[in-house]
Amino acid sequence: MPKKFRIVLFSNATSSTKELNFSKFHIFAFACVCLVFIGSITAVSVNILSNYLYAFRLNRLSQERSAMRSDIKELNQSYEELNSRLSMLFNSGGDLRREANLDPLSSSIREAGIGGSESIPSNQSEFFFSESELISDIAIKLNEFKRLVEIQESSFFAIAAGLENQKERLRYFPSVVPINPNEGEIHLTDRFGLRADPVSGAADNHQGIDIRGNIGTPVHATADGKVVVLHKTTNGELGIYVRIDHYSSKYGFVTRYAHLSKINPNLKVGSIVKRWDNIGEIGATGRTTGPHLHYEVIRWNRHVDPEDESWDPKMFKRFYAEPGVNEPG
Ligand SMILES: [Zn+2]
Repeated sequence: MPKKFRIVLFSNATSSTKELNFSKFHIFAFACVCLVFIGSITAVSVNILSNYLYAFRLNRLSQERSAMRSDIKELNQSYEELNSRLSMLFNSGGDLRREANLDPLSSSIREAGIGGSESIPSNQSEFFFSESELISDIAIKLNEFKRLVEIQESSFFAIAAGLENQKERLRYFPSVVPINPNEGEIHLTDRFGLRADPVSGAADNHQGIDIRGNIGTPVHATADGKVVVLHKTTNGELGIYVRIDHYSSKYGFVTRYAHLSKINPNLKVGSIVKRWDNIGEIGATGRTTGPHLHYEVIRWNRHVDPEDESWDPKMFKRFYAEPGVNEPG
């Protein structure tokens, strides 16, 4: 006889009993049904959960992706802004290079740089590129940017050195007018070059400029230098004159101030003078028809036009623009 299992149920209310009989097979079948049921529930739950997690992760990835694209966009914008600021630096650097007497940076250096062949052309929509392509594009651009910043950096060092030389050079550059208009009324009466000789009327190559002023008007050195000639006697065409060497072995300039009435008594041959130092007074000594300063600039042993050699020729010409005055000198 097969083994039976019995469950007896008592009811308190009716004092009756009920019996449930099970065979081993019944229990086994019941257990199988339960297992299948629990298994199905679990499988469905796991599936729902994993779908949910997948959707959640997908959503998060998509958010991260759009945040990344917007970061890339911002990086590109910052890069464009820095690039245009670098362009401005290149432009001001160009002006400074001219001031410092340096050759301009070759434009090919700049053009070869940003937007070079390897990077994504700026007119291409970023839509067509993956994030990793866009990021590597930024990396390429930044690398090029770094190179250009380094070029500009060394250019600025060269400019600093060049300007220092320039400053030194300008000290020895006869760049100002030898008479201060606040110290007496003056007129430019004769310019440099061919003219009719004021005394003989014959054709003459005037080797300086003539500035008419009253006798005693102070005359100044036009640049730093060393007194090399003090001609104190009135004989000769130029009468009393001073010759100053402005470090001519390096910069080429010598100046001469002639027809003076007087030389500054403190000056000796070899005296060091600074720009604007008083060297004498206007006179009418030598071959002249009236009081004036004959001022010469010699550069590399050749007479040159003092107006053109002024470091600001326009200012010099404006200063001496005196219409209608052309008195013999
Ligand atoms: Zn003259």
